[in-house]
Amino acid sequence: MKGEVEKCVNCGFCESVCPTLPASGFRSTMGARGRVDLGKAFIAEMNNAGGSELKISDSFYSCLDCFACLQVCPAGVNAGKVSGIGREIAAIYGQHALEKPVARMIVETTMKFMNPLGVREKCAGWAKGLAFDSDSETLLYTGNMYQLMAYSSSLGKLKMRLGEKAADFMAGIISRHPAAARLSGMAVDRRMRRQMDAFLRDIYFLLASAGLKFNYLGVDEPYPGTFIYDLGYRDKFLEYGRRIISIFRYHNVRTIITVDPHTYDILNVQYRKYFSDFDFRVVHYLDYLRDVRFAGNGERVTLHEPCHFTLREGNYSGPSELVSGLAQLTFPERSGKRTMCCGGPDELLFGEISGKISEERFSQLKSTGAERIITACPICFANLRKDRTVIDISQFLVERLEAGAVPKSS
Ligand code: SF4
Ligand code: SF4
Repeated sequence: MKGEVEKCVNCGFCESVCPTLPASGFRSTMGARGRVDLGKAFIAEMNNAGGSELKISDSFYSCLDCFACLQVCPAGVNAGKVSGIGREIAAIYGQHALEKPVARMIVETTMKFMNPLGVREKCAGWAKGLAFDSDSETLLYTGNMYQLMAYSSSLGKLKMRLGEKAADFMAGIISRHPAAARLSGMAVDRRMRRQMDAFLRDIYFLLASAGLKFNYLGVDEPYPGTFIYDLGYRDKFLEYGRRIISIFRYHNVRTIITVDPHTYDILNVQYRKYFSDFDFRVVHYLDYLRDVRFAGNGERVTLHEPCHFTLREGNYSGPSELVSGLAQLTFPERSGKRTMCCGGPDELLFGEISGKISEERFSQLKSTGAERIITACPICFANLRKDRTVIDISQFLVERLEAGAVPKSS
């Protein structure tokens, strides 16, 4: 952290793009520069007193890890990275997210059930009736991400409606008795679940149309542990990741097809960094669709580029490449290296901030005048679906595929 914060020249450019600053009512510690300043003060206290009384928790945990700040910083400071290290240090020194019952529930339940809510069976429901090739070394790995949105959005809404205490109470029950999540209608947004299941079936259909044979682990598919990593629990993440690798090895996996930016990023970047034997090929499903015959049309669409693709290492541009060839694509004011996070990563712990960011981003997308808004991440979809014009890229591509399959009447 020291090396990162010492580069800061205090210009404030990062504050102009940090979504949490305006959404928090311009509380300085909830913006990029404030996080860097807090990092400096934290290091100074640790050096001088061997401990810190600073309240760093909200500042570092509310960071979206979008890395928008890094793109504009003349000194190359990444306040997102500072926040990540801050969460790690906080976890070690006890001032950590375990104070927040929702976060505790997610970490404990994931360690125990390899799914943040202990709902692996529900997460496999989308694949009912579909055929997979259990001998294939290519694995379709959803990481449970699309499926979990039906639960996280519901917990987020509950928190907004009943207040933090009620949601925390429920989280406390679920962390001790994960079956409560399964039984409680309150914890599931059924409409969202139907939408997410449909998107996963669309992805299956697209991959099958590309002629690919692949396996899927069904109820045995584990969550990749992204939340454990993001909350700063390095030791637990190392233990958890080791279990995930063993599962891939047990199933003779060589290639992992991911379907969302967060799983793509954590496997390609963090697993490779922390596990020297993570030698699997990790591919995004859109990469298999380059030779599929889609039919373009003149629809005016806009694309919300996920920060975990556009602002991270690798800069994956699969969604914009595919969509721009099939429709009239207009980008919103903040796009490319200036894309703006949907606010989704803050939904569970900082619902109000998350809500304000998603309203702002939705209005930027709407003001393009596009007929539909395309997302390429289940978290973005869940946070931005303010009306029916918001769709997932899988739905858009299946429509274009089906249009291509209809013989032209001439
Ligand atoms: S843009 Fe970079 S140098 Fe300027 S205040 Fe932010 S972190 Fe510091
Ligand atoms: S990573 Fe995103 S939310 Fe975090 S400080 Fe940077 S711009 Fe702000």
